[in-house]
Order: sequence, then C-alpha cells, then structure tokens
Amino acid sequence: MDKEIKGQLRAIVGDGWFLDTPNELYAYSYDATPLYQSMPDAVVMPSSVEEIAAILKVANEYRIPITSRGSGTNLSGGTVPVDGGIVLLTTRLNQLREIDQENLTATFGPGMITADLHKAVESMGLFYPPDPGSMRISTMGGNVAECAGGMRGLKYGVTKDYIMGLKAVLPTGEVIRVGGKNAKDVAGYDVTKLLVGSEGTLAVVTEITAKLLPLPPAKQTLVAYYNDLTDAARTVQRVITEKIIPATMEFLDQATMIVVEDFAKIGLPLDVQAMLIIEQDGTQLQVEQDIERIAEICRAEGAIDVRTAQTAEEGASLMAARRAALSALARVKPTTILEDATVPRARLAEMVEQVNRIAKKYSVHICTFGHAGDGNLHPTCLTDERDQEEIHRVEQAFEEIFHSAIALGGTITGEHGVGMAKAGFLELKVGASGIELMKRIKEAFDPHGIMNPGKIFAKSDRRRVVVKTNACGCQHEHNHA
Ligand SMILES: Cc1cc2nc3c(=O)[nH]c(=O)nc-3n(C[C@H](O)[C@H](O)[C@H](O)COP(=O)(O)OP(=O)(O)OC[C@H]3O[C@@H](n4cnc5c(N)ncnc54)[C@H](O)[C@@H]3O)c2cc1C
Repeated sequence: MDKEIKGQLRAIVGDGWFLDTPNELYAYSYDATPLYQSMPDAVVMPSSVEEIAAILKVANEYRIPITSRGSGTNLSGGTVPVDGGIVLLTTRLNQLREIDQENLTATFGPGMITADLHKAVESMGLFYPPDPGSMRISTMGGNVAECAGGMRGLKYGVTKDYIMGLKAVLPTGEVIRVGGKNAKDVAGYDVTKLLVGSEGTLAVVTEITAKLLPLPPAKQTLVAYYNDLTDAARTVQRVITEKIIPATMEFLDQATMIVVEDFAKIGLPLDVQAMLIIEQDGTQLQVEQDIERIAEICRAEGAIDVRTAQTAEEGASLMAARRAALSALARVKPTTILEDATVPRARLAEMVEQVNRIAKKYSVHICTFGHAGDGNLHPTCLTDERDQEEIHRVEQAFEEIFHSAIALGGTITGEHGVGMAKAGFLELKVGASGIELMKRIKEAFDPHGIMNPGKIFAKSDRRRVVVKTNACGCQHEHNHA
C-alpha cells in the first residue's frame, strides 16, 4: 500500500487510530485459529459509521482488501488478512444505544462485548440468550458475522434467531439499513439474515438491533457421569423425545475432563468416560420438575452418578468449567486445533464413535466436548505444528471427520464459520452449484472482491492453505492436499 493511500486512511481516522509499523501490525496477523497467519498493510480503528464509509470508499477505489475484526477470537481463520490490505477494527463502536422495553429490543454498536450486553439487559430483567464460550471477550459484530452459537442453543437458538435489524456499510461506502424492530416484516428479501453469518465478506456491520426475552426467574444445573459414551449420547436423545428441552446439554469426554480438572480444580471424577452438564431454566416449579425427571432419565440410561448443584454458585462453577474446556486443552500441547463438526442430534452417538475411530486410525490425540443437545461437537486435536508429519495426519483425520459428519446428515461447521480453515470442505456440504450461487451473491455486494478475500470460498481445490509470514514479512504457502 503506497504512502498516499496510507495518508488518506490516517486522515480519516486520525493519528493514533492508524497503525502501519511491523511491530504494531503483527498482533493483527493472526486470530484464535492455529496454523494461519498473514500480515496486513495497515490497521484502522474508526469511531463512526462515517469513518467506516470513507475507509471503504478508499479501499474500493484502490482495490485494497478489507478484513473487519472484532476481538479476533474466531476459530476459522476469519480475520487473518490473507491478501494483506486493511484490518478494520470495530472495537471503538461499542456503545449500547438503547434498550427498548416495549418492543423488547436492544440496539448497540458491533464492538460491544457479548457479556456486557448480557449484563446490561439482565439488569433490567431481560435476556439475550446466545452465550458463546468466548462471551467475555468476543464482540457482538463478530457474533453476528459468524452467527455464533453457545451453550443455550438447544432451547433458545443461535445469533441469527435474535438479530432483527442491522446497519451496514457496503464496499462502495453506501450505508444500508435492513430489518428493524418489527416483529413481522416480509418486505423483500431478508437481507438481515443474509448478513448474519456472512463472515465479513459482504459488508461491515455498524449497528445491531437484537430481540430480547424476559429473563427466566430460576435455573438449576445437573451433572451426570458415564462409563460409556453412548449412554451419555442416548440420554440426550431420550430427554428430548420425552419433550423436555433443557437450556443447556453439554458433553465432555474423559480426556477433556482430565485437563479441565487439572485447570479448574472443581473435583471432577477422572475415572469415568464422559459427563453431561445439563441446565434448565424457567419458573421455579418447572425447573424442579424437569431436573427431577432428567435425573431419572440419566440413571435409566446408565449414568453411574447424577448430582444436582445445591447452589447457584455450584451450578455456575460447573458451567464455568465447561467454558474453560478450550483454554484448558490449549495448555497441554503447543497447537490446539478445534473443529466444529455437527450432526442431527439423533446421530450424536454415532458421530462420537466415528471421532474416536478416526483418532485411533491416524494415531492423533483428539479430545471431544461440545453442545450435545445441538449435535454440535468440538473434536479438538492436541498437536504441535512444528511436527509436519503429525500435522499431515491431523489434516487427514479432520477430513475424514467432516466426511463422516456429512454422511450422517450433518455439516462441516455448526457455529465457527467456514473462514479459511474450512473453505476447502464447503463443497461437501453445499455442492458446486451452491458455491456458484453464493459467489454470485457475493459479487452483487462486492464486485471488486475486497471484502475479506480468501474466506468461505477456497482459492483453489486445495484442502487447506497455511500461510506463514516470517520476520521479514514474506509469505510462504504450505499445501496440505
Ligand atoms: C475460548 C473460545 C470459546 C469459543 N466458544 C464459542 C462458542 O461457544 N460458540 C461460538 O459460536 N463460537 C465460539 N468461539 C468462536 C468465536 O469467539 C466466535 O466466532 C465469535 O463470534 C467471534 O467474535 P469476535 O469479536 O472475536 O470476532 P472476530 O474473530 O474478530 O471476527 C469474526 C468474523 O467476523 C467478521 N466481523 C467482525 N466484526 C464484523 C463487523 N462489524 N462487520 C462485519 N464482519 C465482522 C470478521 O471479519 C470475521 O470474519 C470461541 C472462541 C474461543 C477462543
């Protein structure tokens, strides 16, 4: 990027909000996804929609890639500026503009931290359910762009179920408003839903209006331990077929429990094969009835021990232990690769068995945890990226896991997005014509292809491209075909 363009960008955001020295840029060359890294040419930190529009006009005129970035916690390489260009940080747009108690909506900037939104609405007796494990650091813009899920997805759905309206800037600098506060609105195509989950490839979201619910007055947490993984998976199916929909149904296998216990020290037994953490919310009476019945089902399906948290603090600490799973696993080996294969709930037991079979076949260390109630598993490989031979086996194992998920009627990603990490597998799920249609949609928004290039759509038929940037800023591509 030449000096003149940098000068224009600096003038838009002001001194102090424009970065271009290698030391400053380095922190924006990677995100929470291992294996992917690439240096941007500049980072801008705008404070308003007007500044974002002006930045996009410059980028569009000079065909400079734009990578929007919230907190960089995504797990699909979504904010790695693979073609260089501008990283546009949205964290300064973090204002809560309104909580509308009559329409039950909240309107806020994309830089708002997810847990801050929870706190603000809960202080008024209201509830925004999506709760990704990263909620204390992730931004709502990132949640919208990835259509983030969380632990309450089973009963309450995911981000797309709550986003009612968006303000966004197109690559031309044009500002659009889509959706709004209307409970019903069928005026034309649902562009709001299209932007949710679009991974920064269509527009920059600058304002979000989300639906709120009344805050459930009570909740209770139960844990059940199993000596057989399939008993745990069967419990999940049986609870649902008995028409009880818990707020949360999380699964941890033994390997995950061991590292979580080492990390969180909450007294998990280490000699069992799996555990379920189940939480129900609602009225006190309903919660008590449901938890009692769920405990009976757990025992009937083979749980060797079932415990109900005696206090809200005990329940919260169990949920916190589950939230800590990825951080705990990340301490074990230098490289932690977490995937997101998802199957219809009824196929969960088969998918867990497939993951274990595949880990054995390729001789790789995979721990599995996840949102069992959603059929959304996070097989997590503990490895070392310096060992290229092992990384190759890890790639092969994950490829087979994705094929197994598709064969079971599932998908390659339930909540983390395609990004770079799964671009080579998208065709498995949507087919060649599905990809062509999506590319035409992208072209309509972004004819010059400047919005987060290299994401969602693979640049070639290669499986994965690992882009490394060395100290001198040169990029090297390594194929894992
Ligand atoms: C420990 C841990 C636990 C996690 N748990 C979960 C979980 O339970 N469920 C889940 O779904 N995910 C989870 N994630 C993944 C991640 O936190 C989510 O994808 C989250 O939504 C990313 O938010 P972010 O602010 O970090 O976005 P970033 O990583 O900065 O960006 C993510 C994507 O959004 C785009 N983007 C960001 N802001 C905008 C904007 N304003 N306009 C347009 N595009 C934008 C970026 O270009 C990128 O494609 C977890 C991650 C970690 C590290």
